[in-house]
Amino acid sequence: MARYRDAVCRLCRREGTKLFLKGQRCLTEKCAIERRNFAPGQHSKARRPKLVGYGLQLREKQKVRRLYGILEDQFRGYFEKAAASKGITGEALLSTLERRLDNVVYRLGLATSRAEARQLVRHGHILVAGRKVNVPSYQVSPAQEIAVREGSKQLASIQRALDLAGGRSLPSWLEFDREKMQGKVLSLPRREDINFPIQEQMIVELYSK
Ligand code: SF4
Repeated sequence: MARYRDAVCRLCRREGTKLFLKGQRCLTEKCAIERRNFAPGQHSKARRPKLVGYGLQLREKQKVRRLYGILEDQFRGYFEKAAASKGITGEALLSTLERRLDNVVYRLGLATSRAEARQLVRHGHILVAGRKVNVPSYQVSPAQEIAVREGSKQLASIQRALDLAGGRSLPSWLEFDREKMQGKVLSLPRREDINFPIQEQMIVELYSK
């Protein structure tokens, strides 16, 4: 599968905000947003141009797409499904993104970034309802249990992530038992469960042109 291979901190600098793509580093003063909060590129130190209309909508879509680490085609597919659903399109889109298995693994604190979570899933370290699922885009459902495979519980990356996640709050739609390294989906994620600043209506407007 195609994926972004350039330095991920450039993505945060392009969006002008922390997207938390590099795990522990994002919480330190080494974070590129802390040190160089201007867009990457040759003429980037000039003032950020004031965006309006299409430009703003495009940046919002790119920000969310990059936050969840999704390529354009798949992101548009999520939007089209959300638009065809009965609910509010923007909220349905965010709910779908949140329900991705890689995002849930990250939210449970088993990985320090969504990219790390994706790798855990791909490498078969994660069970959903007792069965190995190695598809990062898998959509979790209420009542499902998400667990670390028995043989993977001592993985250094998971232990490190759990230590770091102590300070991160768990969204109300998930629960997690650290001893068992097992979480549960309590309900579908609601808009208020996503506290990252996102203006999803702008994405809806962009794709509805
Ligand atoms: Fe973004 Fe993290 Fe890099 Fe900071 S360290 S720029 S938050 S990816």
